[in-house]
Amino acid sequence: MPELPEVETIVREMRPAVQGRVLREMAVLDSSAFSLSPLAPEQVKGLEVLSVRRRGKYILMDLGSFCIAIHLRMTGQLRWGEPDPRSRVIFRFSDGSQTLSFVDVRRLGKVLIFNTEDMSKVLSLGQEPLECGCDQFLEGLRQRRGRIKPLLMNQGFVAGLGNIYVTEALFASRIKPTRRASDLTQREGRQLFQAIQNCLKMGIQNGGSSFRNYVDLYGNPGRTQKKWRVYAKPAGSACPRCTQKLRFVMMAQRGTVYCPKCQR
Ligand SMILES: [Zn+2]
Repeated sequence: MPELPEVETIVREMRPAVQGRVLREMAVLDSSAFSLSPLAPEQVKGLEVLSVRRRGKYILMDLGSFCIAIHLRMTGQLRWGEPDPRSRVIFRFSDGSQTLSFVDVRRLGKVLIFNTEDMSKVLSLGQEPLECGCDQFLEGLRQRRGRIKPLLMNQGFVAGLGNIYVTEALFASRIKPTRRASDLTQREGRQLFQAIQNCLKMGIQNGGSSFRNYVDLYGNPGRTQKKWRVYAKPAGSACPRCTQKLRFVMMAQRGTVYCPKCQR
């Protein structure tokens, strides 16, 4: 699933393509992709895309009083160019330029329109990991129960992290994924915060990670998967830090790889 760096990559590419253009049509070809709207899709006609930004794993197009949010979930892609015949939703612009196609093989992604003033209520997301301060993050950890890995994946706690970057950040900060969040020391919490920021920044710098089907706005894969140290490694392969055999466990229905020796 695309996480913060993949979504940020798409948003940065969308700005020069889409920002300042006026919508001519939002063609909903698969109605299950579209939900929760104070505005019918045909009512976006004539509205200008004032800005494109990201919140958590959502791609946002600001239309003034209204906002369009796109969540890619497992297999969603946004593509710029000729309309893609597999699209669930196609955005066309009044200057007749290229179109923005929302393609999504497994059909789990969503397009929402809401009143901009309702954004925090509709999206209900925690802090942005690249914007919040370390103290704010540590305070959050102290107040939460439960294990650190599922907590970091909880979008209401921090927005934008998923299995890839959480697995890598826990490895980098030498923290075992099954630890209780509230049991982390101040020092471990700081190391974790730094590792999360480093992993996300590296992900953005390398155009995101392509493991299954992520591609950017122009169909190009990311390069971050070449930098992964443990994510997607099979159980029993050597830890890149201490050569101990890596272990694989399921936590909250997600596979987790960690080193039993250097992650404590
Ligand atoms: Zn190790």
